[in-house]
Amino acid sequence: MISVNHAKKLISERTSQSQPVDIPIQNATGFITARDVTSPIDVPPFDNSAMDGYAIKLNKDNYVYRITHIVQAGETRHLKIGDGEAARVFTGAPIPDGADTVVQQELSERNDDFVKLNLSEIDKGEHIRLRGAQSKSGTTILQKGTLISPGTVGLLASVGIQAVSVYSSPVVSVVITGNELTPPGSELDHGLIYESNSPALVSYLKYLGVHNINVFHAPDEKEWLKKKISECLDNSDILLLTGGVSVGDYDFVHEILNEIGIERLFHKVKQRPGKPLYVGKLNSKWVFGLPGNPASVISCFNQYVKPCIKANMGFTRVWEPDARLPLENRYTKKPGLTFFLKASTVNDKIVVPDGQQSFNMLPFGAANGLAEIPEEIEMVEPGSIVNFYKW
Ligand code: AMP
Ligand code: MG
Repeated sequence: MISVNHAKKLISERTSQSQPVDIPIQNATGFITARDVTSPIDVPPFDNSAMDGYAIKLNKDNYVYRITHIVQAGETRHLKIGDGEAARVFTGAPIPDGADTVVQQELSERNDDFVKLNLSEIDKGEHIRLRGAQSKSGTTILQKGTLISPGTVGLLASVGIQAVSVYSSPVVSVVITGNELTPPGSELDHGLIYESNSPALVSYLKYLGVHNINVFHAPDEKEWLKKKISECLDNSDILLLTGGVSVGDYDFVHEILNEIGIERLFHKVKQRPGKPLYVGKLNSKWVFGLPGNPASVISCFNQYVKPCIKANMGFTRVWEPDARLPLENRYTKKPGLTFFLKASTVNDKIVVPDGQQSFNMLPFGAANGLAEIPEEIEMVEPGSIVNFYKW
């Protein structure tokens, strides 16, 4: 049995970035850019007005200008004004040739074809957004390795880009094992329980931006399960199994993975929950044999599967805790195992609720992540600083 840190090291050594793919910018939030992005055009593409007002060639000695053009936003003609002339302009309208300043309409007094302008506080060049002021054609607007946000998508659209190259998300198969499992929504017969692992895993995957997911329910029957595992490995980058990875008579997962030649990175970690965790590889593909207990599944996903997927999707520092915070309560535990406790952060303190057993889902109601209590420790006092990992 290996330590948590050793297990993480064995995975992190083998992760790599996925193949870049071009995706529509509308789908790109949450992905990482796989290349530098340069602007194909000057933005703004032409000098334009930042105000509703009058575009003039500024002459401080002249207050009255003759209006020769009305220029709306969207005007595509090239217009021109001369000395003593003004173009009525609106925000976003192109500045006519010859004009160098926009005077906002609040400083104007209109009289038919003429406008009187208060120029006492106007400087040359005011209220004009110059061509290329945001970005010049050919300049880098996003570095490779940037996390795309809705704002980033707006930036890309502003320079006319429709698709962006990102590290792709993996195709994931989820195989849940167990004769006792009944999908939520169905009647529960005696001896059966509701199946909560696949809904939790599917939603966690979607939360990470993984949308190509296939889910299968396998009975505890070796040949059936073996066939399904092989099929899934053919069709996916990552296979997540839940249950059947322990030492019971009907726990076939480890045996099957051995038989089909999966390279085992490790099986069993000094942790609670999630001690039976199995991780293996088949070339570039990953196999995670997650324990059956639903709380173990979510904890192991958070600690091992999520960083692996995020590294694949181009994220960095994926193994680091999100915070190091003081505990609100005292916690005593068995030494020799790292504990991952469902916990919530309240006013920068970690609150650990009761009911930390691996079958008990109730703490997930309030928890926003996991607190890590190191292997060797037996008791942590209130105020002790521990690692916290958000979902
Ligand atoms: P196993 O590792 O297969 O022995 O499963 C450990 C425990 O987790 C058993 O009590 C199972 O009934 C339970 N379990 C396994 N898979 C699921 C699941 N998908 N949803 C809910 N509980 C499960
Ligand atoms: Mg089982």
